[in-house]
Amino acid sequence: MTAIPPSLFQRLEPLLARVKKPAQYVGGEVNSELKDWDQVQVHWCLAFPDAYEVGQPNQGIAILYEVLNQRDWILAERTYAIWPDLAHLMRQQGLPQFSWEGHRPVAAFDLLAVSLSSELGYTNLLELIDLAGLPLRSRDRGDDHPLVLIGGHVATNPEPITDFIDAAVMGDGEEAVLLVSALVRDWLRSGRRGGRARLLGQLAATGQVYVPSLYDVSYAADGMIQAITPLALPRLTDDGDGPGGAGPDLAPARVRKFTLTDLDAWPYPARPLVPVAETVHERYSVEIFRGCTRGCRFCQAGMITRPVRERSTTAIAQMVDAGLAATGLDEVGLLSLSSADHSEIKPLAKVLADRYQGTKVSLSLPSTRVDAFNVDLAAELARNGRRGGLTFAPEGGTERMRRVINKNVDEADLMATVETAFAQGWRQVKLYFMCGLPTEQDEDVLAIADLAGRVIATGRRAAQSRDVGCTISIGGFVPKPHTPFQWAAQAPAEVVDRRQRALKAKVRADRAFGRAITVRYQDGQPGLVEGLLARGDRRVAQVIEAVWRDGGRFDGWSEFFDFERWSQACQRQLAPWGIDLDWYTTRQRDEAEILPWDHLDVGLDRDWLWQDWLDSQDQASVPDCRWQGCSDCGVCPQLGVHSEVGPFDRPLIPLLPLARPTPLAPLAPTAQARV
Ligand code: SF4
Repeated sequence: MTAIPPSLFQRLEPLLARVKKPAQYVGGEVNSELKDWDQVQVHWCLAFPDAYEVGQPNQGIAILYEVLNQRDWILAERTYAIWPDLAHLMRQQGLPQFSWEGHRPVAAFDLLAVSLSSELGYTNLLELIDLAGLPLRSRDRGDDHPLVLIGGHVATNPEPITDFIDAAVMGDGEEAVLLVSALVRDWLRSGRRGGRARLLGQLAATGQVYVPSLYDVSYAADGMIQAITPLALPRLTDDGDGPGGAGPDLAPARVRKFTLTDLDAWPYPARPLVPVAETVHERYSVEIFRGCTRGCRFCQAGMITRPVRERSTTAIAQMVDAGLAATGLDEVGLLSLSSADHSEIKPLAKVLADRYQGTKVSLSLPSTRVDAFNVDLAAELARNGRRGGLTFAPEGGTERMRRVINKNVDEADLMATVETAFAQGWRQVKLYFMCGLPTEQDEDVLAIADLAGRVIATGRRAAQSRDVGCTISIGGFVPKPHTPFQWAAQAPAEVVDRRQRALKAKVRADRAFGRAITVRYQDGQPGLVEGLLARGDRRVAQVIEAVWRDGGRFDGWSEFFDFERWSQACQRQLAPWGIDLDWYTTRQRDEAEILPWDHLDVGLDRDWLWQDWLDSQDQASVPDCRWQGCSDCGVCPQLGVHSEVGPFDRPLIPLLPLARPTPLAPLAPTAQARV
């Protein structure tokens, strides 16, 4: 057992008066857990490498926090990115990165598990490792240092950060963290027998934990990857004197993602933490299903989380009821990648709206689906009086563009949807589009202005009022690994900026509708850096480190992002390899090219993805396999799973309206399986 680490709070407290938003660092939130260090065997520090206000509501951390802390042999605490003002003072005082619960030094934990949802968080990852006092590079860490693990969507191509991490886990984290915990516990119990190398070998041998140091990547003279070669697994010799003995020899050629089935058996978060400082969301969120099979070709989240696995309406209703009681929150979010697609969303929305009508509880269902059903659902959930905004995502300005990206929505669908919305009393809608998509021409983006004009015309007619508005929100498209667009050339930042400016000018010049339309867009440069990091390989590590050493932090925040810093680091670090920023971003790939993530298996068949890439250029659509049959993407046979879509044989229990003067309706006892 390691010594009990001291709380650093007494040293931290005097610094808090000198920094912005000090309350974010104090911890002590309702439902937080502070376990006795010496009463458990495995100590996790869960990290989100962004500010508390962004990271605290993160659903992945909230779920894993409970899954781990429910085991009496494990403790989990959290840490977030320290804002630069406090980080500066901490370095001056020699105060290391600390956990929020016990204010214990992060370096004292057995594992530092970082949830990475955006590539622009990489410099914050380095800052976190360094501020914790850990060696930056994994090869320099010893047996007493925490294992640095990452999860989240970027774990499906962690190559640019493999120098800095010990391992990566793809897919659903619930079972993964328990598997890793058991291996770490056994290794600690053995007195760290065989050292860190043995533990990493055991993790890699599962076939589901990626240990980058057990793979060699070689490069050809033209800059392409020549080979990704699994290396020998470190093992104990029979007499236990260190790595290097017999064994199944090589690290697995492909590492598989974790896929959870029967979400009802994992009803988390049940008691999420209630923030003590302001955060981006303050609501109780339930994930109503995981995965998406709509097949939008730009969408990494949809592709890598296949197949669809729904939670039953019974389980959702129980979670909402218990979650509100445990937190005192009065806002509920029914989350997923496309919440209106849950097979039983209509009865679920009705029973929840009935139950909470007349109370202070507001319900929301983030969905950008372009159809009138979505509007009806929003209206049902808004019965309590709080009407949120309506957002629809046609993504492409022309029908041609929408066929290329497999967003099977035509203009008639969009106009019927906005007509329903304006007729039901909404006065504002928001439309999401992307700029820089494969095959896109200037006119595809300019067409967004015409479309928005027709939305306003339809809205004025339906509302019988001129007081209607439309916000167009445009994001720059970034090709991502494990999608059909992983081979695509990213549009140069100048092209994205030029098209967006031209769109804005066209809207401004529209005398009939322009004043009713607001255009919001992002500059192209951050997207280009995101593209470098998303499809980068191990050579990009030097760029990330150079940017961080040059002061790069919080690159997802526009006030901190510095394109010049990235551009110069690319020039310096990539030139010796004969490659540059454009090579990683605006270059189209061939089918034969070895991609940095080819050995990482999220279940999708590479040939299927390639065919889908070709189909996109022919504007051919792929149907949603939930309703229209399997299209052989490979996920289900590859991972031994299948779509789990209702209706379930678990009936929706009657939940009585809370506002009536009757006792609270009893909820059926939760019969969820426990691990
Ligand atoms: S294998 Fe078939 S059913 Fe399963 S996710 Fe892929 S397309 Fe859908």
